Amino acid sequence: MALNPEEVSGLRTQRYNATVCKLVKIHSDLMILRVKPDLPLKTHKPGQYTLLGLGNWEPRFPGTQDEIPGSVEESKLARRSYSISSSVLDENNEVGEPQHKEWLEFYIVLVRKTNSDKAPALTPRLFMLREGDRLFMGEKITGAYNLDKVKPEDTVVLLSTGTGEAPHNYMLQQLLFQGHKGMIIAACCVRQKMDLGFLDLHQSLAKKLGNYHYFPLSTRDLDESGRKRYIQDLLKDGDIDKANGEPLNPEKTHVFLCGNPAMIGVPNKDRETGEYTYPPIEGIIEILEKRGFRADRGHQDSGNIHFEEYWS
Ligand SMILES: Cc1cc2nc3c(=O)[nH]c(=O)nc-3n(C[C@H](O)[C@H](O)[C@H](O)COP(=O)(O)OP(=O)(O)OC[C@H]3O[C@@H](n4cnc5c(N)ncnc54)[C@H](O)[C@@H]3O)c2cc1C
Repeated sequence: MALNPEEVSGLRTQRYNATVCKLVKIHSDLMILRVKPDLPLKTHKPGQYTLLGLGNWEPRFPGTQDEIPGSVEESKLARRSYSISSSVLDENNEVGEPQHKEWLEFYIVLVRKTNSDKAPALTPRLFMLREGDRLFMGEKITGAYNLDKVKPEDTVVLLSTGTGEAPHNYMLQQLLFQGHKGMIIAACCVRQKMDLGFLDLHQSLAKKLGNYHYFPLSTRDLDESGRKRYIQDLLKDGDIDKANGEPLNPEKTHVFLCGNPAMIGVPNKDRETGEYTYPPIEGIIEILEKRGFRADRGHQDSGNIHFEEYWS
């Protein structure tokens, strides 16, 4: 039975612990969201993530896949992980201190439908939010995807698809704020150019800074030579080496991969033999491991390719 307005109001009071303090729609399906928690924010590192959530009782964005009636419990929260993002520059157009104090920023795409009968739970609800609305935000901020292993002279390569750029923008802010000495090369691959929500920012930073290069890629628009290019092509064709001024040196380079698992290409470990096999579609990990890099597989087995997959 559907919840009545009093029940909905009671659940919102009980379950929500944060407020939307800023919301910018880049277009109908892409937004920057700032969320201020009721309690003080915990310290965190650029690259980490937390949870956002809304009740299943909340309305869904028109034109998104319908939930099968009865398939979700209306009184529960839909919760998902989101990388903490950053717009890099503060209100004075300066690179601000990389530690959000009162709110966290997120960069989120609307998932209109999934490949199954199970409709996307959260984003169709997040895209109905307006400034001042309440929602759930996790108190815990977590994740091992961060710049801890990067030394000041290292080359840092930040490769993403879509909103996988979110943690990289915050990491870029940290690097710039710390006056990173090595090259910083970022690339983001999206379907359409309008999905590059931070294009102007990156292009102006690249113009201003001698050690920053940004590659925007959109697979629906061909490049000047009529090619459709993916992140893998930037490595194979030598564009990233060229931007770095010399071939990437595994001894002094850290590569960060975030977003679509097909771009990342995490190898599968055989439980019996312990051997790794790469996925059928060549991902960045395979390309780089053939060049002497090693995927970071956690505490005991750390490498110089760090990754965060947004789904499996
Ligand atoms: C550590 C971590 C950090 C994340 N950070 C972000 C972030 O900063 N911004 C963000 O938009 N998403 C992020 N995600 C994905 C996010 O958690 C949700 O999966 C996504 O918002 C879809 O939620 P949903 O409930 O609407 O759809 P679900 O019911 O969860 O449907 C999932 C399906 O949606 C698709 N999908 C999920 N995420 C994306 C995406 N980002 N772009 C395109 N297709 C996608 C995949 O096909 C996936 O199978 C992150 C995921 C993880 C694990």
